[in-house]
Amino acid sequence: MTLLDDQRQSVSDPRADVPDVGQLPPLGVVPPKMHAQVIRPDRYGDPGTAFQREVVPTPKIGPGEVLIAVMAAGINYNNVWAARGYPVDQVTTRQRRGETEDFHIGGSDASGIVYAVGPDVDNISIGDEVIIHPGVWDENDPWIAAGRDQMIAPSARIWGYDTNYGSFGQFARVQAHQVLPKAPHLTWAEAAAPTLVGTTAYRMLHGWAGNTVQDGDLVLVWGGSGGLGTQASQLVRAAGGRAIAVVSDDERGEYAMKYGAIGYINRREFNHWGIPPLVDDTEGQKAWSASARAFGKKIWEIAGAKEDPAIVFEHPGAATIPTSIFVCRPGGMVTVCAGTTGFDAMVDLRYHWTRQKRLQGSHGTNDAQAAAYNQLVIEGKIDPCVGRVLTIDDIPRAHAEMGRGEEVFGNTVILIGASDPGAGKRS
Ligand code: NAP
Repeated sequence: MTLLDDQRQSVSDPRADVPDVGQLPPLGVVPPKMHAQVIRPDRYGDPGTAFQREVVPTPKIGPGEVLIAVMAAGINYNNVWAARGYPVDQVTTRQRRGETEDFHIGGSDASGIVYAVGPDVDNISIGDEVIIHPGVWDENDPWIAAGRDQMIAPSARIWGYDTNYGSFGQFARVQAHQVLPKAPHLTWAEAAAPTLVGTTAYRMLHGWAGNTVQDGDLVLVWGGSGGLGTQASQLVRAAGGRAIAVVSDDERGEYAMKYGAIGYINRREFNHWGIPPLVDDTEGQKAWSASARAFGKKIWEIAGAKEDPAIVFEHPGAATIPTSIFVCRPGGMVTVCAGTTGFDAMVDLRYHWTRQKRLQGSHGTNDAQAAAYNQLVIEGKIDPCVGRVLTIDDIPRAHAEMGRGEEVFGNTVILIGASDPGAGKRS
């Protein structure tokens, strides 16, 4: 990590309570208040109106915590859910845990500069240029103290979704172990783009022993042009595998191929989505499996052989799980981190048990996976896939568009402390 050499110290009035967005106070000087995009329970619903820009107190940090001046923030689908207050009302959930704030400042991806370091934090200094991974937990959790996977611990949470003071404010509160070095060759905007989706994809593909992606493996990636999908295809390629993207038009397919997919399938050519006809509906089953088989043939065409995917990378959920289980190869794994189209996903157990497939839930990242993913970014093996670079006032609109499925190319980024999309490159 390096000290910021062109540290901008120009707030409109250095003694002002609130720095302007796009400007930073002197390094290490923490203003009492900050601008943030805030969700309040009485605004839950359409993300376009649930978020509003407010001036709020700058978060205080405690032992083991670090305060980050956010240079850029990444947009993720999780704050579409937070804005809707569904399926989890985050503010009420936190209040039940004893937290007092009656608002939510989301944002689970950030690049920024360390402005303050709490007690018991080693190896992090004011001025470090960093990115933040989204896994948060209690280090004293007995599960973690026993050396087990941090992200499965009862205390595990997603920063800036389950927790407050994420990256949609000028300052963010993080745990020290979330702080990772920023790739020097990336701008602030690029560095803020990929970590949540990238680390999630890394865990899905590398985290489940017995079914981790291997050299030569075929992997089917749903939403191949989206945030998760573009990261997944690149990670598959970096591991020597072959990703086939599923998309909803040719433009998205071309985009997916730019980021590592060897080919794509347009899901609009098929109509067997959602819960299939029940097993005793012979005619319905015939029609469903004919369409699912035709989909499988597209995979073979792209693979150049009658080869089924070793891993299916899932997140649409209800619409696609039956197909994912159907096309996954015997002994293979469907790894799922979301149910964007619905949570009532149906599995025809005949295909599941006789062919000994695995349906593996996956969520977030642990420290080791985040560090391994970030190293690939630092080495230039993973492109952050920046789609759009927007301003803090675009946060409501960007989430509304994402919620309607209109935001489909890579990752949207918001400039907060940075005023120029090209700023932040160090080499
Ligand atoms: P995104 O960038 O909006 O991409 C979603 C993709 O889903 C789109 O590219 C779209 O592609 C595809 N899609 C939409 N409707 C579909 C349908 N009916 N059938 C098949 N595909 C469909 O979102 P993302 O960042 O990749 O996130 C996707 C989901 O994963 C969200 O629910 C998010 O909350 C979740 N997530 C979970 C974790 C975790 O740790 N558990 C982490 C990151 C994200 P096409 O329309 O082109 O097919």
